[in-house]
Amino acid sequence: MNFDAYARTGVDLVNARLDDLDDLRVLFPDENAWMRDEVAERDLAIFRRAQKRLRDVFEYGTSGRDAQAVAELNSMLEAFPVQPRISGHDSSDWHMHVTSRGASVSAEYLAGAAWGLSVWLCEYGSARFGVCADERCGNVYLDTSSNCCRRFCSERCATRSHVAAHRARKRAAVGEQVTVAAQATAEPAPLTPVS
Ligand SMILES: [Zn+2]
Ligand SMILES: [Zn+2]
Repeated sequence: MNFDAYARTGVDLVNARLDDLDDLRVLFPDENAWMRDEVAERDLAIFRRAQKRLRDVFEYGTSGRDAQAVAELNSMLEAFPVQPRISGHDSSDWHMHVTSRGASVSAEYLAGAAWGLSVWLCEYGSARFGVCADERCGNVYLDTSSNCCRRFCSERCATRSHVAAHRARKRAAVGEQVTVAAQATAEPAPLTPVS
């Protein structure tokens, strides 16, 4: 099982919009087109709850609460157990499913996501579970950088944040110059003779 790909389905879920079933359908990769057809209204509520719990895992990981991240993932593994099975859809494209025959779309997706993120945590540690440092974004990511120092979910957020920081520094520098100039031009108050 490619746990890395499964872990990424967990990331995709946390970062997804879940207003309605159409949002959910966008989440399913092409190789899982059957999920788009079979996903039902009752899955939506399950996906929303799982999205919140998985976000908690990333919040715990990024803030050093390792034991809590592990506890949450263990409880997800219990709620969405893995039961591997060989499956084929229209063609005879044999591939693995992670839940038993007739399982709901949410059961299949979430068993894979919980499994993938759990193996990921064991392999690389919970400190590599990240939440984007750009507050307006809030997306989560798995930090695969060599020095474990990634702070943003994407290149886009990193660039936007660096540009904003640069502008703020520039504004601050201009502000300082104005203050210095104002001080330089201010005439010292004339001494009033003491009578
Ligand atoms: Zn399949
Ligand atoms: Zn971001």
